[in-house]
Amino acid sequence: MSTTMALPRHYLVAADFDQTLSFNDSGLVLSELLGAANFQRKVEGLARSNLVQQGGELAYLIRHDPEFRGVRREHLVEAGRRVRLKQDIPALVDFLERGLEGYRFSFFVISAAPRELVQSALAGIVAPEHVFGTEFEYEPGTGEVRSIRRVPAGYGKVAVIEELEEKLGTAPERTIYVGDGSSDVHVMLHVNNREGFTIAVSENRMLARIAKRIVLSDNAFSIVLPVLDQIVGRRPAEIRALFESYRLTLHDWEKERTDRVTIRASSWQPEGAGAGAVVLQEGLTP
Ligand SMILES: [Mg+2]
Repeated sequence: MSTTMALPRHYLVAADFDQTLSFNDSGLVLSELLGAANFQRKVEGLARSNLVQQGGELAYLIRHDPEFRGVRREHLVEAGRRVRLKQDIPALVDFLERGLEGYRFSFFVISAAPRELVQSALAGIVAPEHVFGTEFEYEPGTGEVRSIRRVPAGYGKVAVIEELEEKLGTAPERTIYVGDGSSDVHVMLHVNNREGFTIAVSENRMLARIAKRIVLSDNAFSIVLPVLDQIVGRRPAEIRALFESYRLTLHDWEKERTDRVTIRASSWQPEGAGAGAVVLQEGLTP
């Protein structure tokens, strides 16, 4: 038994929602519910124009697009119920709530999707006050969205992280951020800059370059893997045992990070030199 009584290391664990904890974009689920057409095309058009922060396109459409303008709180709650979640989020939340000896985790979801929608999707799993999403104000008479109060997309996610670090009193190097897409670029750069830890759960090209670790799995509990491995420093056998305590088995665990680099011949090369691309793959042991 240890004779020293150290305070547990307190970590803020923040995760994106769409395609990080779920399979589909919640905007797509909402547009299907409303019968609104061309959601994807509209989002792409908005993204190209850089009018809104990446990830904030749905909030913009709800406020300004005729097909979305009748949205009320009930639509958001119903769309949340229809979202397909990744497996074992309850186990993930349980693990983080329990923590480990010497480690304490506070878990929050930070999404650009409407807050009511994410709260509804995670009802009974994540406490509503641990969910940050786009906040609307509603018309008292009709219940329709009247204005946007806040959008945690792009740089908006950084603001939420800073707010939470201050509220919890956690150090920036003890922030762990998990995300899948371009809406997470700003926040990941910010967390990395301050010595925090970032996990990408997709092969998004931009994030793959930024995130410290990448985990690809249909199971949300998989994000526990890099946390145990890199932050807590558990050995693979201990990690497998912890997964088994949740009746989960690790299959095909490849603990590697693949760096892809393309090298092209440049103009100084003598004539006749091959101009093809070379792809180097290197597995790094973290
Ligand atoms: Mg996402």
